[in-house]
Amino acid sequence: MSKEKLGFDTVKVRGGYNAAEHNNAVSVPIYQTAAFELGNTQRAARLFSFSDSDPIYTRLSNPTVTVLENRVAELDGATGVVALGSGMAAVSYALLNAAGKGGRIISTTRLYGGAVDSFDKIFPNFGIDVDLVKDTNDLYEVEKTIKPDTKAIYVETISNPNSTVTDIEPLAKLAHSYKIPLIVDNTLATPYLLNPFKYGADVIVYSSTKMLNGHGNVIAGLVLESGTFDWANGNFPQFTKPEYFLRDENEISRSILDVFPKNPFTGRIRSIYLNYLGAALSPFDAYLVLLGLETLSERISKQVANTEKIIRYLESNPNVLWVKHPHAKGNAYKELAEKYLPKGAGSVLTFGFKGTQEQYDKFLNSIKLFSYHANIGDARSIIINSPTTTHGELNDKQRNLADLPLETIRLSIGLEDADDLIADLEQAFNTNFN
Ligand SMILES: *Cc1c(COP(=O)(O)O)cnc(C)c1O
Repeated sequence: MSKEKLGFDTVKVRGGYNAAEHNNAVSVPIYQTAAFELGNTQRAARLFSFSDSDPIYTRLSNPTVTVLENRVAELDGATGVVALGSGMAAVSYALLNAAGKGGRIISTTRLYGGAVDSFDKIFPNFGIDVDLVKDTNDLYEVEKTIKPDTKAIYVETISNPNSTVTDIEPLAKLAHSYKIPLIVDNTLATPYLLNPFKYGADVIVYSSTKMLNGHGNVIAGLVLESGTFDWANGNFPQFTKPEYFLRDENEISRSILDVFPKNPFTGRIRSIYLNYLGAALSPFDAYLVLLGLETLSERISKQVANTEKIIRYLESNPNVLWVKHPHAKGNAYKELAEKYLPKGAGSVLTFGFKGTQEQYDKFLNSIKLFSYHANIGDARSIIINSPTTTHGELNDKQRNLADLPLETIRLSIGLEDADDLIADLEQAFNTNFN
């Protein structure tokens, strides 16, 4: 049976795993070990120069983590992948890896709040500047911002929290015409709703804390590469420069591209950033994400269906002023969602209602069923006042650019009965408006 023929749902429960290689265990075993026997000195030399990819030490790789990596790589059609200890590690390592020494990144404030914060708090310390454009679908604005030392464009495919949709295809073309990669955070879409590689994206990052895992019980991240970007195009010396730590048996230094011809981007993240900054994913946490992945399609399709019902309810409520989601009435991203997200535009939305700050507090404090916390993509529905919490570090200018008025409430819709969720919102509105 040829692997190419297996459908998405088969891969999500079986991909990357051959039971015969693991004592015939049906469920992926948790390799709870820090290190692995080296065998003999020749093998040790091969392992430590990355000539052989067997595990040495769980900070670098672990068989349970490898199954997760290979399964998600198969779902997205990646040639290289690395799992990390959080989504933020995935974002930071991917951007550091592309920027190299002192490069620039183009991004937007329409992002996860932590990513926007890191642009001020981390990257300048590495000599890396991030140039923000308001709308990365405005190609003129993006092109104007590209400088000779720009090394990547970074966007979210569906943005957190307003669920704006990136027009990936022309943005990737623009990036490629300047010999730079398009890096996308596909957390809100998941591989079930969207495969960004199909439209020209070069690198995908995930917070697998969110929808990929789906049960709100783990912190995890992933970086994947398409295998089609030319890292030897002259813009990225970090991939072509011979490195002593990658020397072969004859003591000849080799480059990242020599050692990782199919997966230079994630091979470099693993051998440098994961190795020395160390945000390793634990085997137990990898196991939890694998378990969550088994029901990815079923969860996401129900969450998408529930989200449609919540949107219709909010739109029918006379107190609600606006709803932001590609499937809300009059939303500017409807057509892009039809192109890129035919199975649904995700389960995160924002809304605002007529009310004072006091009424907002009263509304949130009256919620009984929704959880009030900072996560998204859980099986349980979540409510939060994003501008003062998850996106609380944004200054006024960044908040305006991000289109996040202070009176924004974010919902992440889970797997409960939609009627119960609607009844909860309704009773919270009634405490204010009846
Ligand atoms: C949560 C989130 C992150 C950060 O992931 P962690 O796993 O919390 O570190 C990055 N991108 C998006 C879109 C997110 O929602």
